[in-house]
Amino acid sequence: MIILKLGGSILTKKDLKDPEVDYSNLNRIANEIKTALDNKSNNSELSEGLIIIHGAGSFGHPPAKKYNIGEAFTEEQYPKKRIGFSTTQNCVKKLNTIICDVFINHKIPCVSVQASSFITTKNKRIKSFNLDLIEKYLNEGFIPVIYGDVVLDDDLKIAVLSGDQILQFIAKNLKIKSSKINNLESKKEIILGTDVGGVFTKNPKKYDDARHIPKLSSLEEIEKFDSTTNIDVTGGMVGKIKELLKLADIGIESKIINANEPKAIFNVLEGKKVRGTIIKRDN
Ligand code: ADP
Repeated sequence: MIILKLGGSILTKKDLKDPEVDYSNLNRIANEIKTALDNKSNNSELSEGLIIIHGAGSFGHPPAKKYNIGEAFTEEQYPKKRIGFSTTQNCVKKLNTIICDVFINHKIPCVSVQASSFITTKNKRIKSFNLDLIEKYLNEGFIPVIYGDVVLDDDLKIAVLSGDQILQFIAKNLKIKSSKINNLESKKEIILGTDVGGVFTKNPKKYDDARHIPKLSSLEEIEKFDSTTNIDVTGGMVGKIKELLKLADIGIESKIINANEPKAIFNVLEGKKVRGTIIKRDN
């Protein structure tokens, strides 16, 4: 099966203060997904199921930041925090509705799954996430679409749950039986589509001399490349890599690709080689 994360940087105009969908990318990617689904006999992994996870981009980050969701607060501040939680939850839900509208227009049989309605965290890490329903939807041929959201947290009361952490949890814990070989688990392919072609020695949006890293097995590898500018790694990419290294630790490899490139998502769903960064531990 394939677990595909579509970054907020791809589906929204992420640098804007006001939420805005990138319809050109969304329609193109929906078309690529639909075409791959129609051809799915070409790729056995896709024929065993697809889960899509999307980020919050300019729909989630501004309200979560405005209300400092995830930071400790006093009882007096709770009424304002609750409104911040409600606002953020509603904004990311709107983005998900728009994405699912476009998917359904492309005849993709998606089903929206809202993290805040059943997942909880403890100190920002997933504590409770029942995968049974996702498994059932997959078995019925649906494509679950789950997204970065706000959730209840045992320690902090409320927290932000990133699409990247959701991806890591599902990749680690979901067990789907292979349709071909009895009693065998379906192989999982983990793909992250973002707005750069993978991991670079430093932020490629800021530095022209950033070099592409085809395979990454630790965070230290980036530091080794450039100790003066690796601070930029904190801008988005580092959280992703940390989640993916947790998967690499248990033998699940993942790949970050540039979903801005036309056909990259289609090709990866078809099982074709696409340029990007593979995250896996050295054996
Ligand atoms: P998404 O919204 O797609 O999940 P993010 O915006 O959170 O992605 O992270 C991707 C961004 O990380 C890129 O747009 C890039 O500017 C930034 N970035 C920072 N450091 C690096 C690096 N070393 N290699 C690649 N991207 C980096």
